[in-house]
Amino acid sequence: MERHYSLYRLAIRLLLWLLPFVLVGWLLDGLWLALAIGLACSVAWNFFFFQRLNRWLWQSRTTLPPSAPGAWSDIYDGIYGTLRRAQSKRRQLSILLQRFRQAAEAIPDAGMVLNADGSLEWTNKLAQIYFGIRWPADKNIRITNLIRYPRFIKYFDKGDFREAITLVSPTGDQRELELRIMPYSGTQLLVIARDVTQLRKLERMRKDFVANVSHELKTPLTVMNGYLEMLEDGEHLPPQMMEKAVRDMQGQTQRMQKMVNQLLELSRMEAQTQDNFSKRVAMSRVLNDIITELGPVMQEKRIHLDLAITPDLSVWGSEDKLRSAAMNLITNAIKYSPEGSTIKVIWQLNRGYAEFAVSDSGPGIPAEHIPRLTERFYRVEKDRNSSSGGTGLGLSIVKHALEHHRSKLQVESTIGAGSRFYFRISPELVSTTTN
Ligand code: ADP
Repeated sequence: MERHYSLYRLAIRLLLWLLPFVLVGWLLDGLWLALAIGLACSVAWNFFFFQRLNRWLWQSRTTLPPSAPGAWSDIYDGIYGTLRRAQSKRRQLSILLQRFRQAAEAIPDAGMVLNADGSLEWTNKLAQIYFGIRWPADKNIRITNLIRYPRFIKYFDKGDFREAITLVSPTGDQRELELRIMPYSGTQLLVIARDVTQLRKLERMRKDFVANVSHELKTPLTVMNGYLEMLEDGEHLPPQMMEKAVRDMQGQTQRMQKMVNQLLELSRMEAQTQDNFSKRVAMSRVLNDIITELGPVMQEKRIHLDLAITPDLSVWGSEDKLRSAAMNLITNAIKYSPEGSTIKVIWQLNRGYAEFAVSDSGPGIPAEHIPRLTERFYRVEKDRNSSSGGTGLGLSIVKHALEHHRSKLQVESTIGAGSRFYFRISPELVSTTTN
């Protein structure tokens, strides 16, 4: 238990110390001399322990105080207690600081603490990556010297941080960052930067998508509206014109219908986030069904089919998606092939991979278009009223269907000679037996 320093106890101790000197002095008739000797001894005694205290505080490495009798023991213990409490507080503070730093590293955002003059006080690892900060070399450097965009410097110097600011990462990796600055602990500022690249990309995609759909719908609606206005005006159309009007309107409605169906198919595929590989899809049966279904169109164009389909080669996955991928590729080959030409369809095992390929002798695709073919609404020929009636959605459906099977659409094409669209399914999803 801690004893408290008490003036009363100190006075009593001094009196008890001096008592023998007073008694001896009184008996020997030298009271004042004895008292002076007693006081001098007391001073020497105290000086000795004062010196020990001094050595312990400034020179000794141990926190344990030296042993001492009397009042000095109280003083040493008091100092020792205070030291222990300070030490424990320091330990708690350092644990707290460590936890704060760990928490600041764990958040998925970049964090910086700035001093009142805008100089960098602290930063987490993500901020060092996003802003190319060298730590601790850049400590105390003003933030406007680290992020040198004039727009940011203006924003920072203005001091109005109610709105966030979006910047491209100064490291040159095209990352879009949204910065928020908040006053923190009186004079300091807390800067939080979030990577919004993906978010902005999605926003742009959504805007493009709406613009594309509106644009695609505008042409058929304008055509139909034109004919309907003519009919409404009671104009007597000659039978040939009437026939053309009905044919055109039918063509446009079919195109819109196709587009809506393809958009629904795409959104269904996107909604299915979980891959399911529990069903074995007999691709030869699926391909034969597709070929039977497309028979009339091929007959109309006098297309000849060259088939090389391996019967027992199956895939673990989704029948609907594989059917959709193959259907779109074969339909395109028919659509873009000249009349009377041959289309080659291959489904075979190639070094453990199941390979599907469709080759046509169509017009071919210029190389600069090939990387963009699977983008939604992307079409090589810009005229949207072209006779093909295409929507530019077919290959994006193929891309999605293949992604589900961990595969990618590949295209080889030679202008004037034809194109080859193919994909490979990896061995773990391939089955070569029937049972
Ligand atoms: P579309 O409905 O327009 O055919 P797709 O997404 O299926 O849409 O195809 C995108 C574009 O790729 C087409 O507009 C066409 O220009 C081109 N394309 C696709 N397949 C072929 C092919 N076999 N031969 C030549 N061009 C093709």
